[in-house]
Amino acid sequence: MPPKLPYRPISDLLEPSRVKKNPFIEARKRAVAGYRRDPVKVRARKLVANAIVRGDLMPLPCSWRVDGHACGKMPTEAHHRSYEAGMELDVQWLCEAHHDILSTAARNKARRRRLGIVPSGTDDEQNGTQ
Ligand SMILES: [Zn+2]
Repeated sequence: MPPKLPYRPISDLLEPSRVKKNPFIEARKRAVAGYRRDPVKVRARKLVANAIVRGDLMPLPCSWRVDGHACGKMPTEAHHRSYEAGMELDVQWLCEAHHDILSTAARNKARRRRLGIVPSGTDDEQNGTQ
């Protein structure tokens, strides 16, 4: 028989009921799930993916302006300025980091609008925040 361990095995601590969930990760999971469920956004993403496969749309280097110069990184993601019908292929090409910044800014602005808080000044309009 093996000697008794002076500490509890890690498997005890990793029982699902004992693992505390990170609230930030859980919030991100909910946000991503919501984004994937939104049929308008899902359709727009599919149209962009199909246009790329057809060759009608070509991913370009990141167009985020930093000190007057474009970031220029690749690979890029398509940022939809609008999800209106007919505007699905009107995208801005951004690297992952700048897409995150822009999407977070847009979400925060929408949240402020929902809460009736008037945004102070203009939020980075040169980079197309809406
Ligand atoms: Zn960039």
